[in-house]
Amino acid sequence: AVRLQLEDVRKSFGQTEVLDGVSLHVQEGEFVSILGPSGAGKSTIFRLLTGAERADGGAIHMNGAPLEGRNRNMAFMPQRDALMPWRSILDNVTLGLEVQGMTRKAARAKVTPLLAEFGLAGFENHYPAQLSGGMRQRAALLRTVVQERNMLLLDEPFGALDALTRTSMQRWLEVMWKRHRWTALLITHDVREAVFLSDRIYVLSARPARVLHEFHVPLPRP
Ligand code: ADP
Ligand code: ADP
Repeated sequence: AVRLQLEDVRKSFGQTEVLDGVSLHVQEGEFVSILGPSGAGKSTIFRLLTGAERADGGAIHMNGAPLEGRNRNMAFMPQRDALMPWRSILDNVTLGLEVQGMTRKAARAKVTPLLAEFGLAGFENHYPAQLSGGMRQRAALLRTVVQERNMLLLDEPFGALDALTRTSMQRWLEVMWKRHRWTALLITHDVREAVFLSDRIYVLSARPARVLHEFHVPLPRP
């Protein structure tokens, strides 16, 4: 089933044309990447999906229905600074559930069994600054996935990490994704990351962005 569909989506900021008719789709349970140069308009696509910006033209459908206003079906994980420094890891991870209206107690009960899988067991009462960059991003991902939205939006989730940590996080995410089958859309400018993690990849042109290519992974052999 098609979960997300963008058709000929256009967006400009003043005179700056950013999206020049972007069309793409994500099926249920698929991991799709949007690969493109920096400044192409990738984050703009995500801001349209979360409802932070409105498209100038084209159509966006989620589960067959047009996307309107604030979109609460998307769980968004930013590149960095997702965690609040003054809250413990546990209180950071439960935050999204509490915002949805769950009590802190219920949120803790839901999150606690998952801490080990995310490599955070024993670090519940630490503060973000006490953890490594990789651990902080795993905490940010846990906070995002426990919200059980229709779709996971990952904006360069490992882009701020050193190369070695990034590789280990990619391996870990691949294992996690195979286990949980989140429907995910990843933004990256890292070709290897896109190939390693995705079922399909859309390659965007430089701004104004259009889809230049669509690849299935594993890539067909010549
Ligand atoms: P990417 O995520 O691919 O690096 P972005 O979507 O962040 O690219 O930005 C694409 C282009 O749109 C950039 O040139 C950026 O300067 C411009 N842009 C993004 N948001 C705004 C805005 N609110 N006002 C004006 N220009 C913007
Ligand atoms: P990653 O960021 O991929 O977890 P690191 O090399 O930074 O990789 O951390 C490896 C392990 O070291 C962590 O999984 C954790 O068990 C431990 N660790 C990292 N930071 C701390 C810390 N501040 N205090 C105690 N243990 C830590």
